[in-house]
Amino acid sequence: MNKYTKEQYEKDVAFIEKTDRFVTEKKIYLAYFVPLCGCLITHIMYFLIFFKTGIDEMAIFNIFSIIFYIVTVSVFKYVKEKLYIIYAAIAEIIIHASLATICVGLVADFGMFLLMLVTIIFLMPNRKISFLVLGICVLLYGTLKLFYLNPEYAVYDIGISLSKKFYIINIFIGSSVLVYVSVIYTMMNNYKECKLRVQNEQLRIMASTDPLTKLSNRRAMQKNLAEICKKSKTTGNKYVIAIGDIDNFKKVNDTYGHDFGDSVLSTVASVIDENVPENGFTARWGGEEFLFVIPDADVKEGFSYAEKIIHMIRQQTFSKGETTFSVTMTFGVCEGLPDDNIDNVISNADKRLYKGKMNGKNHAEYAD
Ligand code: GH3
Ligand code: MG
Ligand code: MG
Repeated sequence: MNKYTKEQYEKDVAFIEKTDRFVTEKKIYLAYFVPLCGCLITHIMYFLIFFKTGIDEMAIFNIFSIIFYIVTVSVFKYVKEKLYIIYAAIAEIIIHASLATICVGLVADFGMFLLMLVTIIFLMPNRKISFLVLGICVLLYGTLKLFYLNPEYAVYDIGISLSKKFYIINIFIGSSVLVYVSVIYTMMNNYKECKLRVQNEQLRIMASTDPLTKLSNRRAMQKNLAEICKKSKTTGNKYVIAIGDIDNFKKVNDTYGHDFGDSVLSTVASVIDENVPENGFTARWGGEEFLFVIPDADVKEGFSYAEKIIHMIRQQTFSKGETTFSVTMTFGVCEGLPDDNIDNVISNADKRLYKGKMNGKNHAEYAD
């Protein structure tokens, strides 16, 4: 699987924001106004044709349909439960398709609207009603086809020429509806997939980030270390690990309070992160312990970075009330050879940190 890049993530977030804005503004028009207007125009056209060809029952039915759609287009904004309008429109389409088939026969293919409705139910939120509509439509379509296979059974014998005209109009309207439904359905799926990708990424970030310092947490770093160790085996290059611990941090907490201790921790974390080279990684390894790793580097480089960090932290001052103070840190540094076990390298760095604490703190140790 391809790695989900930061660019892709940002693109997805922008797409979601854009879609959310568009949907908030236009949803009501796309879901109700456009389809209802489409139905209104279609029924005006059907009325004219049925009226002109003397198919009175259908002309009358279409007058009711036109009134129904004029009313719904005018009031849909004010209706609280807008889905009811859609259910009523679905009922209207089912009755119209069935009556028209009974009146003019199968060749005109009004029955196709029954099958077309099956696709609309993909967009409906209520599953029970969706399947009810699906059942009614399929059953009606099958029954009509069975009974009106013989054109003579239709109420009107409209002849093949008019039947074909109806068929062409119907297939045009039917396919327009299918295209409309497919576009909306595809867009909805794209949006959902995109949202899922973004949510997964946010969860992944949350699971691998320490909330206080915003550095990687121990688990994420362990994964990183394993990858660096694996890479070192293929490149043959060394890597260096340094574990640092704030000196006498308990005293900071005891003197200035736990909350202030938190802000000290988060400042120390930023100083470390800013001073680790671009190709390196920093993590909060434990309470007031940090670990950084630099691939393709040896112990000397690691030591000089640790010393630089210790220096920068010593320079950092913290003020609470009248008092100003600074903290110091001790580091243990150990390099990893391609054949080394990563856990041994970490454990050696830890031992050197302990040695540093024993030897007066506030410095880095890189030898046993
Ligand atoms: P040393 O120089 O030997 O490291 O002494 P120390 O006082 O730093 O070491 P010790 O392990 O005795 O104390 C570490 C303290 O760090 C104890 C703990 O309360 C504090 N600590 C650990 N995590 C956090 C945290 O998230 N926030 C705050 N404010 N304190 C923390
Ligand atoms: Mg400490
Ligand atoms: Mg500690």
